[in-house]
Amino acid sequence: MKIQDIQAIQLLLATPKKIAIIPHRGPDGDAMGSTLGLYHFLLKNNHQPTVIAPNDFPDFLAWLPGSETVKIFEKDTENCTKILEEAELIFTLDFNAFHRTGEMEHTLAKLTAPFIMIDHHQKPDDYAAYMYSDTSFGSTCEMVYNFISFLGKKEDLDKTIATCIYTGILTDSGSFRFPGTTGNTHRIIAELIDLGVENTQIPVLLFDNSSYSRLQLLGRALQNMKVLEEHKTSYTTLTQAELDSFDYVKGDTEGIVNYGLSIKGIVFTAIFIENKDEKIIKISFRSQGGFDVNQFARDHFNGGGHSNAAGGRSDVSMEETVKKFEALVNKLKI
Ligand code: 5GP
Ligand code: MN
Repeated sequence: MKIQDIQAIQLLLATPKKIAIIPHRGPDGDAMGSTLGLYHFLLKNNHQPTVIAPNDFPDFLAWLPGSETVKIFEKDTENCTKILEEAELIFTLDFNAFHRTGEMEHTLAKLTAPFIMIDHHQKPDDYAAYMYSDTSFGSTCEMVYNFISFLGKKEDLDKTIATCIYTGILTDSGSFRFPGTTGNTHRIIAELIDLGVENTQIPVLLFDNSSYSRLQLLGRALQNMKVLEEHKTSYTTLTQAELDSFDYVKGDTEGIVNYGLSIKGIVFTAIFIENKDEKIIKISFRSQGGFDVNQFARDHFNGGGHSNAAGGRSDVSMEETVKKFEALVNKLKI
């Protein structure tokens, strides 16, 4: 971050303020961990922060400290709009364009308070007065740790803040294995553990928390998987009917996409998940190595993300979406 920006933010934070903190729609471990980590830090510094998520977060994150205070814009629009309008400062974390907040984007676009963006996605929009945007980081949580350090407030880090930050670093790095995981990441993790983070318990809360039906759903996704060996690509699908038959709840499909890369020799994979309510097919893309799924998602599926993990959507049927995907893959040289 630029030194002038840090000084300006220090000045803004020198007096107590009403502050809104916003993650992206469909918040994941990094979005929730970063916003709640910052929430606890601001609370400690006598501010009045509120985390406002565009829509609900999955159950497997509901143990995060402070998650019970999170307001959900799509459930409580009037109240959330009021909090946003009264906020003197707005942090947007783990995303870089208002449209990533769904219908909340129209409210955000009208606000006049200054925005601070902390984010690691490519091609940020230009709405923030202060930007800490860097795609070299594996997680926004790691950047929140740095942000607190830049402000000269490292002594404020405690077990609660550390737990939130640890969670996002863990989930967004695929348990410390994705590119972007550096020596620094591990040095920060070591500090967080020294602050009391329960590093053996958090993965249990996050990953060993499935219902039986979720595992059955995973089984279906694995059975549906197709391999396009020539193109080092795999993909799978889950229709709304399949989700319904396995009593799908939010969060159940998290991480399933990664199984597609676990086949030897596969470097590109996707999962297509039907969402009848929103009338879309939500897509997750993952790659290993040089194939840039962010560009692929941007070019063909109205999405984006990072070079090895991205998402997108399709407004046509599952059948047509998969047909389009296969046709594109057939032209790829991976
Ligand atoms: P996931 O597949 O886990 O939902 O998302 C992978 C990455 O892509 C995350 O960094 C997420 O923020 C980003 N992403 C997911 N869906 C979209 C989308 O529809 N548009 C954009 N721009 N990014 C997305
Ligand atoms: Mn992230």
